[in-house]
Amino acid sequence: MDIAISDGKIAGEVSSAAKVIDASGKVVMAGGIDIHAHVAGPKVNVGRIMRPEDKLFHTSRRSNMTRSGGGFSVPSVFETGYVYSKMGYTQVNEAAMPPLLARHTHEEMQDTPLIDQSAYTLLGNNWLVMEYIKRGEKDKLNAFVAWMLQATKGYCVKLVNPGGSEAWGWGMNCVNVSDPVPYFDVTPSEIIAGLAEANEALNLPTSIHLHCNNLGHPGNYETTIESIKLLEGKLPKSPEARDQIINFAHMQFHSYGGTTWKDFESESEKIADRINKNKNMTVDVGFVTLDETTTMTADGPMEFYLHNTNHLKWANSDIELETAAGVVPYVYSPKIHVCGIQWAIGLELALMIDDPMQAFITTDHPNAGPFRRYPRIISWLMSHQARLDRLETLHKWVPDRVSIAGISRVFDFYDIAKMTRAGPARALGLGEMKGHLGVGADADVAIYDYNPKTMDPTTDPAGIEKTFQNTAYTIKGGDIVVIDGEVVSKGNKRAIWVDATNGLTDPAVMQDIDKKFLRFYSVTMNNYPVQDSYVHNGLTIIPEAV
Ligand SMILES: [Zn+2]
Repeated sequence: MDIAISDGKIAGEVSSAAKVIDASGKVVMAGGIDIHAHVAGPKVNVGRIMRPEDKLFHTSRRSNMTRSGGGFSVPSVFETGYVYSKMGYTQVNEAAMPPLLARHTHEEMQDTPLIDQSAYTLLGNNWLVMEYIKRGEKDKLNAFVAWMLQATKGYCVKLVNPGGSEAWGWGMNCVNVSDPVPYFDVTPSEIIAGLAEANEALNLPTSIHLHCNNLGHPGNYETTIESIKLLEGKLPKSPEARDQIINFAHMQFHSYGGTTWKDFESESEKIADRINKNKNMTVDVGFVTLDETTTMTADGPMEFYLHNTNHLKWANSDIELETAAGVVPYVYSPKIHVCGIQWAIGLELALMIDDPMQAFITTDHPNAGPFRRYPRIISWLMSHQARLDRLETLHKWVPDRVSIAGISRVFDFYDIAKMTRAGPARALGLGEMKGHLGVGADADVAIYDYNPKTMDPTTDPAGIEKTFQNTAYTIKGGDIVVIDGEVVSKGNKRAIWVDATNGLTDPAVMQDIDKKFLRFYSVTMNNYPVQDSYVHNGLTIIPEAV
């Protein structure tokens, strides 16, 4: 069918003078939306600095339209915008913004061209959050969360290893959901349930996003099941706007069986079953792509553990009163059985979750692999044979520990559109504006030069990978920004954030915040909130008060 575009939106009709793009015989989708990537902010920058070798074979020269850039797993901001845009993406969300460094995060997002962006505010280890939960002060917690989102110009409530990253400041961790946080004496369960409740009380556009405790350890699927149980049967405040009460981040890293790395195995089936039973939950998968990459996370203790496993460079950071972070390079080698099993777990999860609207394509970029590998992941998801071929090249222990060989399901282009556009848009509460090509949606369109009538993705993984690497056209907000894999416009971009304060702040909460700044923070309040000048072209979402 014809798709009309006018004033940056999909329109019912346009005049006969409108420019015409002939997309017949091609795949046409809404712009891609990455629900979880690390593309801006302090730890991304640490990754860029600590890994000059990451740029060695990956630099691009400037053109009339583009700046030079570089980096494979941690590309520069310009390169990030260009590569996403060439792949047909029009929105990418930074999945972990430390509040204290929100200004830096927004500065980097301002410098990332062509794609809309939002940033998720880290709150799962925040001192005031833990104190309000401990004292049962729900109204104060709600007011604090609203203030935090507004002060950081954040999009959602993100929890990373809730309680565990604070425990790391004491040289400890919270490896399961009932481990109390030292000094604060609250448990990860209480933090997860408390912030989920606050999230719904404020009627925020998206649910809480959770990076579970115990990431990346053999046998951790049990911690994941315990985390899922906390919100089973719970409904969001406005189910007509979004279904889900929680999005589980990079579920691949949380679906591990075994007791040590030696007997490490996949438990993806148990996790997928649980998600299939809970239609109020979504996951982003975090596919392992089997590349050399740079891991980075607010899960401080996990990175220390990883560094002790591979003995590569390690950066650690404590964000006072708020969170932690670590950065460690990592090589996912096909010759190592653990890496091969991780590769299979991601694919198994995606293929065993019945509804593609519940499972989104991510690599937790760059943690499980760089985002530029999405086309390769799509080729695996669309071709059983491609998966079997890759499996054959992996360590000999892998086939017995995974079930991927026996899963013949293959996704079609509609499924891929759900996992990369419609699903993430709906989960983010942006389902009206984005993720589809209906009248009224943002005119974000990706046109791929692949004819599904004459070509067969199940036997053509190389063709699929090539197709999804470079669009024939990417249109962002009505502007043509990419033609045949070349950036042709400086584009337009927005930072999207949420103001749930309804113009009000709670004086008692402001006093609590003031006290924390006077006694503990190394900056004053004046140097904290993100001013409007950091966001040149912002889109503020104001949730309906309830
Ligand atoms: Zn992440």
